[in-house]
Amino acid sequence: MEYDDMWYSDRDLRGCYSVKDGYRKLGELNGPCLPVWGNLWKLQVPPKWKNFLWRALSVNLPTLNNLIKRRVELINICPACGTDEENVMHILCSCYFATHVWNISQLPIPSFDGMNFVQWMELWLGVSAAYNTEAHGRICGLLYDIWSARNEAVWEGCLPVLYVLLQRFSARWATWIASEQQRSISRVPHAPPTPNPLLPPPTGVICRVDAGFHGPTRVPAYGIIVQEADGSFVAAGNGPLICSYDPILAEALAMCEALSWLRNNGFSMITVYTDSSILVSSLSHACSFRTYLGYVLLSCKHLLSTMSSSVVNHVCRDAVQAAHVMAKHVSATLARSQWRDVPHPFLEPDVANAI
Ligand SMILES: [Zn+2]
Repeated sequence: MEYDDMWYSDRDLRGCYSVKDGYRKLGELNGPCLPVWGNLWKLQVPPKWKNFLWRALSVNLPTLNNLIKRRVELINICPACGTDEENVMHILCSCYFATHVWNISQLPIPSFDGMNFVQWMELWLGVSAAYNTEAHGRICGLLYDIWSARNEAVWEGCLPVLYVLLQRFSARWATWIASEQQRSISRVPHAPPTPNPLLPPPTGVICRVDAGFHGPTRVPAYGIIVQEADGSFVAAGNGPLICSYDPILAEALAMCEALSWLRNNGFSMITVYTDSSILVSSLSHACSFRTYLGYVLLSCKHLLSTMSSSVVNHVCRDAVQAAHVMAKHVSATLARSQWRDVPHPFLEPDVANAI
């Protein structure tokens, strides 16, 4: 057989290079994905605090230096202290206003000296950090409130008094803890997922993935559910796939979507469950780029290899029922969607039954 030589990107199913993937590759070359990215989503705090922290880590907060980088014409003078330039590390940590908040709070936080924001986060939320769940929650909440105070300075022209800010935070934290305790009392206990007694128990997060076809034209879509090993909900997602009516190809593409999502969100030690035994055995034998399926399988293997101690296991169909519901929901054919921390209402009965 003869083939023409061609250039392709091994990081894209169609072989097309994208700037986004280029940045991702640069990130991999510059260092491994830090544990803080995965631990961030495990924080036991209100979802909006986690989203805020993710934006701060991702350089997505509208700090003055970030706005100026996006060509907004502004002068960079910190709205809290009025002396230094504002960036995420300054406004949340080293600004005189922030340092006063941290000092009065008496929270045991790591030193800011010589750190950028990601490095500092790694010290209290990384894999070797010795901070407990409550300290994690309080630090996260106070970061959120410092940012809120900064926004008051920007939009209302004045900063809250330090003690008022801390009192507000204490009241908010107490309310959150009380509501969590109430929820844990009223919550129906989830049985730990045991889809197959022959498989070793999972150690990290569990991801169930499935593909489905919609309607007479058989529009393909995927669904994923991510849970902690104890069964608690982490995230769910669904979206359309681009392929013909080819169940094994759809399962492989769905697997690729799930692994991409897990990798991009910093997870490792993942156990992925699929009800396609052909997919599981094909994954272990995939070695060729010469078919589209082979290409997708190799992409799955590559993604899997970037996340330590991660495996794909075959389970019975009932064990991926919740992922199947995600794939078959009408929203799956429209666009990629994801739900964090709290499942979408259409999923809850199925999650309760399947988990
Ligand atoms: Zn400042």
